[in-house]
Amino acid sequence: MTPAKERKPRLPFYLQILIGMAAGLAFGIFLPAWVPHVAWMGDVFIRLLKLIVIPLIFVSIVAGIVRLGEPKKLSGLGFSSVVYYLGTNATAVFISLILVNLIRPGAGVKIFGTAPETATPAFDILNFIPENAAAALSRGDSLQIIFVAILTGIGIMFIQPKAATLSRLFEEGHELLLKITGGLIRLAPLGVFGLLAKMAVDLDPSAFAGIGKFVLTLLLGLVIHGAIALPLIFRLFSGRNLWAYFKAVQPALLSAFSTSSSSATLPVTLECVEKKAGVSKEISGFVLPIGATVNMDGTAMYEATACLFIAQALGMEMGLAQQLIIFFTASLAAIGAAAIPSAGLVTLALVLTAVGLPVEGIGFLLAIDRPLDMCRTVVNVWGDMVGCAVLEGKSGVKEKKGMP
Ligand code: ASP
Repeated sequence: MTPAKERKPRLPFYLQILIGMAAGLAFGIFLPAWVPHVAWMGDVFIRLLKLIVIPLIFVSIVAGIVRLGEPKKLSGLGFSSVVYYLGTNATAVFISLILVNLIRPGAGVKIFGTAPETATPAFDILNFIPENAAAALSRGDSLQIIFVAILTGIGIMFIQPKAATLSRLFEEGHELLLKITGGLIRLAPLGVFGLLAKMAVDLDPSAFAGIGKFVLTLLLGLVIHGAIALPLIFRLFSGRNLWAYFKAVQPALLSAFSTSSSSATLPVTLECVEKKAGVSKEISGFVLPIGATVNMDGTAMYEATACLFIAQALGMEMGLAQQLIIFFTASLAAIGAAAIPSAGLVTLALVLTAVGLPVEGIGFLLAIDRPLDMCRTVVNVWGDMVGCAVLEGKSGVKEKKGMP
C-alpha cells in the first residue's frame, strides 16, 4: 500500500478538533435553546461513520488475508507472522480488559444526557455464523460479517493464482475505502461540534473525571504492553540487544507519534529496521508492509478500553461472554482498521454494535482522539518492529555483524 499522503491543512487538524470541541461545549452551555439547529452535524457525522465501517472492515480483512499470498507458498515466515500478529494482539486486548475491569474508569460517569436504548446480545457461537451471508451484510451484523470476510479471504488464498483479478479488486476497493474514510475524518471538527453541543446541554461534571480516568487506563495499558510485554517477547525470541534495537528504531516511533499513521510512517520504519537495525530485507519486506495494516496492538487496546468504558458509563454490566465478544471484535476491528489517523475510532463503531452499545458514545471520545491516536500508533509501529526482530530470530536468518 502506498503511504497515505496528507495534504497540509491550513490549521493543524488536532487544533481544528479542539476548536470544534470548545465551540460545541460553549454553544451547548450558553445557547441550549439553539442546540437543535446544530445537533444535526453530529448526527450526520455518526451516520457517515456507520455507513463506512461495514464495507471498510469487510474489505480490509479480506485484503489483509489475501496479501499473505498463496497457502502453498505461505512460507514458515508467513505462518509465524500470523501467529505473532494474532498472539501479540490477543495479549494487548487481554491487558486492556484486565485494566478496565480493575480501574472501572466509566463507573458512575454520565456521558449521555439521556442514555440511549441498548440491548446486549447473548453470546452464542451460532451468532458468528450467518445462515445467509447477504442478509448478514445488509443487516450490518458485525460478528457475522467478520466471519464471512475471513472465509472469503481464505477462499481467495486457496484459488490463487487464478484469483488475480479478485485480489486486485479487493486491493483497489481497500484503497477506495481508505480514501473515503480519510475524507470523512476531515469532517470530524464539524461532527464534534454538533455532538458536544448536544451533550453539553445536560453535561455532568463526572464526564470530565471519567474521560481523565479513561485516558489514564488506556495509557497505562499501552505502557504495559509496549514497555513490558513486547520487550519480553523480544528478549525471549530475538537474540538481540533490546536497548540497541530500540535506539536504532526510535525515528520510526517519533514519526508514528507525530503522523498518527502507521502507513505514513512505513518508509521510516523500513529504513530504521533494515538500515539502522540490520534486519534482513527478506524479513522486513514481508513483515512490515503487512504489519502496518493488520498488526495494530495499540488500536486493539483502544477499542477494548473504549468499549468497556462506554458500557460502564451506561451502567451496563458486561459479563464474561460479552467481554469475549469484545475481545474478538476489538482484535479484528484493529486488523480491519486502516493505518491512517483516527481509523481506530471509525472501527470502534463495529465493536460497539457487536455488544449492543450506542455508536453515539464515539462522539465523546472523538474530542480526545488525536492525542490517543498518536500514542496507540507508536505501539502499533513498535509491535511491527519487534515482530521483525522476533521473526528474524525464529527464522534463523543471519544477522549482519555489528548490528543491534
Ligand atoms: N492511527 C492508527 C495507525 O495508523 C490507527 C488507529 O486509528 O488506531 O496505526
